Amino acid sequence: MTTVDAVVVGSGPNGLAAAVTMARAGLSVAVYERAATIGGGARTAELTLPGFHHDVGSAIHPMALASPFFRAFGLSDRIALTVPELSYAHPLDGRDAAIAWRSLERTEHELGRDGAAWRSLFQPLVDQIGNLAEISGSPLLRVPRHPITLAHLGLRVLEQGTPTWNLRFRESAAPALLTGVIAHSIQTLPSMAAAAAGLVLAAHAHAAGWPVPVGGSQSIINALAADLRSHGGTITTDAHITSLAELPPSRVVLLDTSARALLDLAPDSVPAAYARTLRSVKYGNGIAKVDFALSDGVPWADARLREAATLHLGGFRAETAAGERTVARGRLPRSPYVLVAQPSAHDHTRAPEGKHVLWAYTHVPRGSTVDRADAIATQIERFAPGFRDTILAQASSSAQDVEYSNPNYIGGDISAGAVNLRQLLRRPTLTDPWRTPVPGVYLCSSATSPGPGVHGMAGWHAAVSALRHEFGIRKAPDLAP
Ligand SMILES: Cc1cc2nc3c(=O)[nH]c(=O)nc-3n(C[C@H](O)[C@H](O)[C@H](O)COP(=O)(O)OP(=O)(O)OC[C@H]3O[C@@H](n4cnc5c(N)ncnc54)[C@H](O)[C@@H]3O)c2cc1C
Repeated sequence: MTTVDAVVVGSGPNGLAAAVTMARAGLSVAVYERAATIGGGARTAELTLPGFHHDVGSAIHPMALASPFFRAFGLSDRIALTVPELSYAHPLDGRDAAIAWRSLERTEHELGRDGAAWRSLFQPLVDQIGNLAEISGSPLLRVPRHPITLAHLGLRVLEQGTPTWNLRFRESAAPALLTGVIAHSIQTLPSMAAAAAGLVLAAHAHAAGWPVPVGGSQSIINALAADLRSHGGTITTDAHITSLAELPPSRVVLLDTSARALLDLAPDSVPAAYARTLRSVKYGNGIAKVDFALSDGVPWADARLREAATLHLGGFRAETAAGERTVARGRLPRSPYVLVAQPSAHDHTRAPEGKHVLWAYTHVPRGSTVDRADAIATQIERFAPGFRDTILAQASSSAQDVEYSNPNYIGGDISAGAVNLRQLLRRPTLTDPWRTPVPGVYLCSSATSPGPGVHGMAGWHAAVSALRHEFGIRKAPDLAP
């Protein structure tokens, strides 16, 4: 086997971000991916019928424009990203939906008596959105470079992540809208960690917006892979690595895997204390997903929602929180919280003319084998009577199927480790969380700081750390197109 400078195991967005960063520093890089196609949680495939392109994992990309890595990489110059004016919507029974428009003014106006409270929650975060992206893209315990922004965020997390979360709003639509985005993190609500993640996402919704990549999340992956190859890197698919000994000799190995995977890949090399750290990583509850091919747009009762790329279903705040509590107790809620994406409302390449793809998932207990397609369709039908009549085909995955298709998502936990307060701070360690005590071995996946999402930041941080410690390169390479 040829010797290379760096080997990357896994071709998710973080693995490829790490590979691109290493290659741009002038090093030889080889990527090995167990699946037949590259992209991990950011792939797009014809899961139902020919011509219907479904996002297997990520569909909505709040960090595609905001992530410091993607900004340096010039992602928006390399692929087409459409930014819906309607960032996310929350349909409600028998009345108009609550909507977070990209325009904070318009959102404030439509939220009526709670408009000013919504604005005061988000205006300081939107005004300092660049600082916020830097804070959320780095380990939280770094000496803060933006203490004022951190203070604004911290105060809001204390408010929306604790039982005081009901004090801000007077009516029910605004808290429902906010709960929809805070509930992404699969936690019992209120939760400080979920509030932190949700408030950052919600602030991006009123800043650059939540972009939809034309062609699906795969376009992001293909842009990374093209850059890697043009700088001499190689990618081998259908290569499930079960031991580091299978890899070609290299100075550095970067693992886009779960944290725990290192224990299997190098069982004799991991020091006992670090092995305990890896074993102590907590995995969260999982998701069950269904992809629909539709004959038409969804007949939402509030017709404005046909334009929504992202929707949160689950009724008012108390109902969503009760559903999440049920999942935390290991049961399936009768009225589940459902995340819906309608990418084809903004990207006509996803489905044959006039037809649509719909992506939806719900939270379930870790490792669940239950097919939730019917529960998800029932929840959509509640806010869009006649939805079932538009279904041409569907492909459903239980939490166990999610893990089967990507071993990083243990028990169907798509965050590769619970998003709780402890793991916001230690992911999996406090300082330089990418560097392991195994010589030359780094973790670079969302199991490390800053955690889940398609932003490439974990891969980028891991590569910068490896360049510094293994090659003495202190200046991060230029990534521009
Ligand atoms: C259903 C779903 C919906 C999501 N929705 C969104 C969303 O809308 N927006 C968003 O920003 N994020 C979303 N996410 C999360 C996002 O996809 C992940 O956080 C992100 O993909 C993590 O990137 P990564 O590179 O760390 O790991 P992954 O993308 O998981 O990639 C890891 C790769 O490593 C490979 N691998 C693992 N072990 C080995 C091995 N031993 N040998 C070889 N290869 C190996 C895997 O096959 C995989 O390809 C979603 C995820 C899922 C599953």
